[in-house]
Order: sequence, then C-alpha cells, then structure tokens
Amino acid sequence: MKIREILRVKGAGVVTIAPDTPIPEAMRELVRHNIGALVVVEGDGIAGIITERDLLRAGAEDLSRLAAARVADLMTTAVVTASADAELRSIMDTMTERRIRHLPIVEDDKLCGMISIGDVINAARQSSEAENEYLHAYIAGTPL
Ligand code: AMP
Repeated sequence: MKIREILRVKGAGVVTIAPDTPIPEAMRELVRHNIGALVVVEGDGIAGIITERDLLRAGAEDLSRLAAARVADLMTTAVVTASADAELRSIMDTMTERRIRHLPIVEDDKLCGMISIGDVINAARQSSEAENEYLHAYIAGTPL
C-alpha cells in the first residue's frame, strides 16, 4: 500500500506552526487538534518539527524554561520526510529506525500530508484484514 492511498482517506491537511510561536500556544494547538506533532513552517519551506516528546523533554529539564520558550528553541530542524509514493513498509522501517512517530509527506517540495504511527498501525491492520478475508474466501472457494 502506498502512502498516497492513506492520504486519500485521511486527507492532506497538516497542522503547521511558525517558529516564533510561544510554546504555551503550540501546546494549545496540539491539544485543540488532538495531535502529537506540528510541522514548523517558515515562508514556503519546512523549518522543523516539534512533537509532544520535545515538550516533555524540555519540561522535565526545566518547567519555567518550557513556559518561556518558543517553538524554534525546541524543534528538530533536520526533518525526516517521505514521499507520497513511498510504500507503507518503508515508512514503518523509517519510523522504527529513526525512533520517530511522525512523518511529514512531501511532493514537489510541498507539504502534502502527515503520517503518524497511529495512521501506520491503522493502515497495516486494514491491509492484513483484507488479506485475511481474501485468503479465507480463496480457501473456502466462495466469491468475495
Ligand atoms: P515523536 O516520536 O514523533 O514524538 O518524536 C521523537 C523525537 O523525534 C522528537 O525530538 C521530534 O522532534 C523528532 N521527530 C519526530 N518526527 C520527526 C521527523 N519526521 N523528522 C525529524 N525529527 C522528528
């Protein structure tokens, strides 16, 4: 299964944020959208990614620093992205190897979606259920 198929169902919307946004506002955005990561954009490009993990790490170190920081202070700038043509399997490998749970999807240098570990698990489950149904029908000789 290609990432493009997952995005067709999920949609291409990505919640983004500017690098100079105060952290408390970024936290409210995460809560408001019920998500775990924000892609940081500046101008036309991706400047970074900030996830709940970054906030937790900074807060565990120094809570008052967390409250006073801006997105640019805590974001990861070397963003790992994937193409909409990537296969689900390769996205799973990237997330596992890099220990990340969010992958912005890029096409022609433009942000065109976000895949989280939750989306990956959901898609993998659906595809294995479809395969099971097919195999059962094949073994039983019944049409699908
Ligand atoms: P996560 O598991 O996605 O919450 O992120 C764990 C750490 O990896 C955090 O420091 C994130 O900023 C960073 N991270 C998450 N996704 C990406 C990504 N696609 N590219 C680069 N860093 C990322």
